[in-house]
Amino acid sequence: MIESDIMNIYQKLLDHFGKRNWWPAETSFEIMVGAILTQQTTWKNVERAINNLKRENLMNIDALAKADISKLERTIRSSGFFRQKASRLKNIASHLMSEYNGDLNVFFDRDTNEIREELLALKGIGQETADSILLYAGGKPIFVVDGYTIRICERLGLCAEKNYDEVQKWFMKRLPKAAEVYGEMHALIVELGKHHCKAEPKCNGCPLMESCSFHSKNNHQTELQSTI
Ligand code: SF4
Repeated sequence: MIESDIMNIYQKLLDHFGKRNWWPAETSFEIMVGAILTQQTTWKNVERAINNLKRENLMNIDALAKADISKLERTIRSSGFFRQKASRLKNIASHLMSEYNGDLNVFFDRDTNEIREELLALKGIGQETADSILLYAGGKPIFVVDGYTIRICERLGLCAEKNYDEVQKWFMKRLPKAAEVYGEMHALIVELGKHHCKAEPKCNGCPLMESCSFHSKNNHQTELQSTI
């Protein structure tokens, strides 16, 4: 796999799905909140929780840091795991208030690895959440890996690794180092995973069918079976 191949995949996905314009949010803080709320749930459920937070005037760092935890839990209930998530939201907002006076420009205006380590040290913030925050809220050039990425990489025969760090390195070594490209590529992979490359793949109509080793292997087996 050479650099032009991955850009070829990027272009095919872009032509097929169009620009995704992630992350849908009005502010960087809303992106951070969304990145936590989207853990283990669908975006539809997150949207309801985000609208509730806005209606309750809780979509700002100071208000969230001071929010009554029971009220916060009720407000984000639709996102599932609402107790854990309410505590995570309060925790990150309190951290931003106490260390940066709630100023996200100061928070993000530092070395990416330094911010990443700080985010990962907060309870309930794993690599995918931290990198989503860095990329989409902070505009940092870091690639986000999720379950779809690992599955699609394996099926396309791109990268045999299943480990987060290795898959992330694989993409970052081959894609142009730009937050815009990383952000679009991740969003396109999610789109492909939702519409075609599901646990049970729907290969018909998939824009990557011609270059997919999983599809050609399965197709070949089906052809062989039909000739026996
Ligand atoms: S052709 Fe099928 S297996 Fe390959 S990427 Fe597309 S949906 Fe996934």
